[in-house]
Amino acid sequence: MNYQHITVAGSGVLGSQIAFQTAFKGFVVSIYDINDDAIERAKERITKLKKRYQEDLGATDDAVNDAFNRISFHSDLAKAVANADLVIEAVPEVVNIKTNFYKHLAEVAPDKTIFVTNSSTMLPSQFAEATGRPEKFLALHFANEIWKNNTAEIMKHPGTDMDVFQDVIEFAKAIGMVALPLQKEQPGYILNSLLVPFLEAAQMLLINEVADPETIDKTWMIATGSPKGPFAILDVVGITTAYNIANGKAQAGKKEFEKLAAYLKTEYIDKGKLGTASGEGFYTY
Ligand code: NAD
Repeated sequence: MNYQHITVAGSGVLGSQIAFQTAFKGFVVSIYDINDDAIERAKERITKLKKRYQEDLGATDDAVNDAFNRISFHSDLAKAVANADLVIEAVPEVVNIKTNFYKHLAEVAPDKTIFVTNSSTMLPSQFAEATGRPEKFLALHFANEIWKNNTAEIMKHPGTDMDVFQDVIEFAKAIGMVALPLQKEQPGYILNSLLVPFLEAAQMLLINEVADPETIDKTWMIATGSPKGPFAILDVVGITTAYNIANGKAQAGKKEFEKLAAYLKTEYIDKGKLGTASGEGFYTY
C-alpha cells in the first residue's frame, strides 16, 4: 500500500469523520463537497471533532491542529482528486447521486486512483460500471464515531483486483481501524447482517407481548455476557432508524412489521422518545 493523498468526497456526518481520522493518522487529505456552504459546514463539523478527539482520545492541541492543517477543502472535483491515490466516497445514500458522482469522478480522476464507497445499504457492483475502473473499486464501510467505533468492513465485488483489496485492508489499518475483510458482496456487510435480524427478533417479542424490554435485555445480557441487550442497542441506533426499517418492510407487504411500525410511531416517535439522542427511548438517560 503506497497511498499518501486521500480525497474524501461528501463531508457530511461520516465524510467529515473519515477525513479527520485520516488526517489525524498523518495522511494528506482533500475534501470535496458540492458548494461553498457545504464546505463551510464541513469546517464546522471538523472543528467540533477536534474537541471530541481531545476528550475521548486525550489528543493534544498540536495533534488535532496538525491534522486540521493537513486537510484542504474543494468544491471543484477535478482539483480535489488531481493528486489522489484513493478517493473515499461518502455522498448521500441515493442511487442517482452516487451514480452521477462516479461518472463525473471517472472523467477527472487520474488512472492510478482507487475508489471506495462508504455506502451502508448498497453494493459496489451497482456502481462498478459507472466508475469506469471496476477492478479499482470496492467498499470501505465505517461506523459512526469512527475514532471510537473503529470497524472498517472492506468488501470486494466480483471484479475487484485482489491486490487493490489487500491495499485497502492495509490502508484501513494505517488509519487506526480494525480491518474486517468480506470476500463476497453481502447486503448489510457483516455487522448489519447480524444486528438487523437480532433487533427485529427482540422487537417482535415485545409487540407480541411475550416480554417487556427489560426482561428481554436481561435475558440476553446474563446468558451471553453481553454488556447491552437489544433494546439498549436500539436506543443508541435511534428509534427513528428502527421505525424507518420497520416501515419499509411494512410497505413491502410484510404484515408483522405494520404493527411494529405503528407501535414505534405512537409510543415512541410521537412522544419524542427517540433513544439516547433525546434522553429517552426504551430507557431513560
Ligand atoms: P450526510 O447527509 O451527513 O452527508 C452527505 C454529504 O454529501 C453532504 O455534505 C452533502 O453536501 C454531500 N453531497 C451531496 N451531494 C453530493 C455530490 N453530488 N457530490 C459530493 N458530495 C455531495 O450523509 P452521511 O450520513 O455522512 O452518509 C454518507 C454515506 O455514508 C452514505 O452512503 C451512508 O450510507 C454512509 N454511512 C453513514 C453512516 C452514518 O451513521 N451516518 C454510517 C456508515 C456509512
